[in-house]
Amino acid sequence: MSRWSIFVTAKMPDYVERDIAAAFDATFNTTGEKLTQEQVLKGLEGKDALFGGVGVKMDAAFMDKLPSSVKALGTYSVGFDHVDIAAAKAKGMPVFNTPDVLTDTVAECAMLLTLGVARRVTESVALMADWKGWTPLQLNGMEVAGKTMGIFGFGRIGRAIADRARAFKMNIAYSDMNKFSPDLEQGAIYYKDPAELMAHCDILILACNSTPETRGFLNRERLAKMRPTAIVVNIARGDIVNDDALIEALSQNKIMGAGLDVFNNEPNFDPRYKTLPNAFILPHIGSSTVEARRRMGQILIEGLLAFKDGKPARNRLA
Ligand code: NAP
Repeated sequence: MSRWSIFVTAKMPDYVERDIAAAFDATFNTTGEKLTQEQVLKGLEGKDALFGGVGVKMDAAFMDKLPSSVKALGTYSVGFDHVDIAAAKAKGMPVFNTPDVLTDTVAECAMLLTLGVARRVTESVALMADWKGWTPLQLNGMEVAGKTMGIFGFGRIGRAIADRARAFKMNIAYSDMNKFSPDLEQGAIYYKDPAELMAHCDILILACNSTPETRGFLNRERLAKMRPTAIVVNIARGDIVNDDALIEALSQNKIMGAGLDVFNNEPNFDPRYKTLPNAFILPHIGSSTVEARRRMGQILIEGLLAFKDGKPARNRLA
């Protein structure tokens, strides 16, 4: 069977490009330029599949305009809030993503954010520019041992964060659509109502999908339930957070701090975060390790090849 020709929308690491080139006749994005929807549609003319697409909004209009040659779409991410899955299904357009293979990497980043806020890393790094020496008063942070981590969205990444937090002697609580089985809970306490979770935890981790129900979840009313010593970590998507509400809580010390990897309107995130000493902010590097990036490429290649060969794929969304 002939090889598929694919259009790769984003510049990939060279080791991923090599894997792609071994499996497909690929047209790469060599400049790293962020492509518009129109440029992507043009690039897809005569191609069998799209590879990439994290920055490309694949809405119903996009699905309607896809060239007839296109047989599948692959997004180089586990999150698929930028893809209209219902529209893809209606069109009979298969969509593939990258579940599981980035879970450990993202969970490690969640711990980095948690510890970064608890140990006041933003202030510590700033202090090193003019450090006068050790004092007992200097930057007293919060020990996480014995504290309760509350995880909103107890899926693959949420549970992997819990595994790491247990090793740091934290207690685990969670809120999700449904209560999980004991083997997955591993002693974690379930709160059906997320507001209850927020009232009972010291560290709130946002690890849910971005959906119409979760967008704007962290609002003023819910933040008001939190302890003044609490930490918020967002490893999920920026739109889960209402920026005005979180920035108000941070600037008025209504909570201890926030660790944020993702933002509304990336990369043009709210600049007020840059001025807050209790915000520890990262540029959406949650899944950015060499190991995860390579595996993300591999699982997407596997999914597209399986579909091409008429076989089932574990990472098919639509
Ligand atoms: P997952 O296994 O699907 O976990 C998400 C969990 O959130 C599921 O248990 C889901 O429940 C739950 N959830 C969805 N809507 C909810 C709601 N309204 N209330 C409570 N719980 C809700 O996905 P994952 O692999 O862990 O990834 C989670 C998210 O992390 C992704 O969607 C992505 O946006 C984000 N992410 C970020 C980075 C980064 O670079 N920062 C990297 C990877 C992933 P159901 O299964 O019942 O819907």
